[in-house]
Amino acid sequence: MSVEVPFRTIIEPFRIKAVEPIPLTTRAERESLLDRAGYNLFKLHAEHVTIDLLTDSGTGAMSDRQWAALLAGDESYAGSRSYDHFETTVKRLTGFEHVFPTHQGRAAERILFEAVVKPGDVVPNNTHFDTTRANLEHVGGVALDLPRSGHPHFGGNMDLERLGQVLAGDRPVPLVMMTLTNNAVGGQPVSLENLRAVRALCDRHQVPLFVDAARFAENAWLIKRREPGYQDHTPEQIARELFGLADGCTVSAKKDGIVNIGGILATHRADWARKFEVLLILSEGFPTYGGLAGRDLEAMAVGLIEALDPDYLRYREATVAYLARGLEKAGLPIVTPPGGHAVFVDAARALPKMPKSQLPAQAIAIELYREGGVRTVEVGTLMFGAAAQHELVRIALPRRVYTASHVDWVIETAERVAARLGAIPGYRIVEEPPLLRHFTAKLQPL
Ligand SMILES: *Cc1c(COP(=O)(O)O)cnc(C)c1O
Repeated sequence: MSVEVPFRTIIEPFRIKAVEPIPLTTRAERESLLDRAGYNLFKLHAEHVTIDLLTDSGTGAMSDRQWAALLAGDESYAGSRSYDHFETTVKRLTGFEHVFPTHQGRAAERILFEAVVKPGDVVPNNTHFDTTRANLEHVGGVALDLPRSGHPHFGGNMDLERLGQVLAGDRPVPLVMMTLTNNAVGGQPVSLENLRAVRALCDRHQVPLFVDAARFAENAWLIKRREPGYQDHTPEQIARELFGLADGCTVSAKKDGIVNIGGILATHRADWARKFEVLLILSEGFPTYGGLAGRDLEAMAVGLIEALDPDYLRYREATVAYLARGLEKAGLPIVTPPGGHAVFVDAARALPKMPKSQLPAQAIAIELYREGGVRTVEVGTLMFGAAAQHELVRIALPRRVYTASHVDWVIETAERVAARLGAIPGYRIVEEPPLLRHFTAKLQPL
């Protein structure tokens, strides 16, 4: 159903059937919990987090229909009914003939690259997500990011000129990828116009195009809202058009599949599908379950369609916008426009005097926890070291989990943090592992 809401206020298009208590802690408790966690929010126990906005991945709430579908799961080793349900749904949505379930998105990436990428091959992408880059580099591929920044509505687009140069160059390009929405640049959407132009370039050079479609529904919705000519299309029609421009996809269903675990690898190329199948059996399992239980496939089949419900997507966009406005009013600078699944606080602007070496974004993330028990994630110097291009705090919104009153709590917390920005300490790293230090490093306030 897609009726225009006659009210100014957009409400959650669901009511709550099962409740999960959330922990409420005192400021004094949080002080000592922070200290024990070495000021690393990854080291907090979730039972000490009031509002957990660390990620939107695998943290969504399943619907009653998804829970019901779980019970209907067919756990047959081969040819299960649940696979048929999953396959039919993915085919309807993507048009791809060969559909493989994987345990999550990165497994689909690993299989794809192992099958088709040789050492030295270049794979252009609007921006590689970190697991995509890591899997590509693992087989010797070169991950080339070609973002086209500056578009007011479609900040996730690909730089067409540079893509044309790369495709016309000497280095072999086994495939081009497009990430929908562009996670690494804040969940900004890609326009159909841009994807069509990428397709045309791929056709000219006879290179296949794959979409990394973790947030296909959010991207489809933002096309409906922002791209001329698509206002009257349904999100499902737009999603089909997006997939229709590609030769295949990798999907982390932990995002717009609204499941807690699951992924998809699909293509219409029979030659590649045969290679995928061999590798899938090696690590994931028989092709009709692919590293998942039959019940997971059922939940995914339902979730992929629910994510395209216009009422849900309208509420999702409104929630992100409401949080963004609230943070701005509270006095925390944000990156605008916000993307489809998160709002980013610009810590470099919030704490202009704090040097990067003192981890300003981490400092703000710590204060959000100290003031209100809100967990977010630093995307800056702690995560990327000297390579960090920005000092951001990502506030990601799990799907269908928190209500407007929870978002108000986050905004109130932000107000308290903003009120004493001048008194926020910087941090130094006292212990760090050689790789991916943000997960386990220990910090101390200065
Ligand atoms: C999350 C994500 C992945 C990896 O998926 P997992 O399910 O976490 O393995 C790949 N690409 C994008 C764009 C993502 O957001």
